Amino acid sequence: MKALEEKILKEGKILPGGVLKIDSFLNHQIDTRFLEEIGAEFARLFPEEVTKILTVEASGISMAVATAKHYDYCPVIFAKKGEAANMSEETYSSKLFSFTRKRDFMANVAKDYLHEGDKVLIIDDFLASGQALKALIDICHQAKAEVVGCGIAVEKVHQSGGDLIRGMGVRVESLARIVRMDDDGIEFAE
Ligand code: 5GP
Repeated sequence: MKALEEKILKEGKILPGGVLKIDSFLNHQIDTRFLEEIGAEFARLFPEEVTKILTVEASGISMAVATAKHYDYCPVIFAKKGEAANMSEETYSSKLFSFTRKRDFMANVAKDYLHEGDKVLIIDDFLASGQALKALIDICHQAKAEVVGCGIAVEKVHQSGGDLIRGMGVRVESLARIVRMDDDGIEFAE
């Protein structure tokens, strides 16, 4: 998505540790018109039936909502983050290591909202090591729901997450694919 690449080049900030900040339009302040474009693009990439969109709080929620309205009745579920030991009978839970916070936590989804037979599109802002997607896919498997695919705003191709998730047989579509990010700037895949 050319418009996303251009926005990243114009407004993105590279932090130490390989973290890209896109707080000016997605992760803190939200450019709502641009958000609508992102939602439409994800829906175009996943024309198949989708009954639920799953993301993880908080950064994925706005894109998930913008995408969901392109499908027939399609609620958005966001996994809630909890402490590593936080599991209960009423939730599907999966442990993940946070790339940005450098610690483990649990992603939790209430069993009430995800069911066998659901066709789930997973949406997230970044794909780095793949831990967040792996946990969300695991939650879908626990619920016996089908994973239609994963829609990602920014895939950092130089990290291993894309290979990990595609290697699991899950389709991943990324709107911007970064192959290099350093003091000399940001380079996108063709
Ligand atoms: P992964 O689990 O694939 O290592 O990392 C994905 C998660 O970490 C995303 O949900 C995202 O919130 C966060 N993340 C990973 N890399 C970046 C980055 O470069 N910038 C920002 N803002 N978040 C990132």
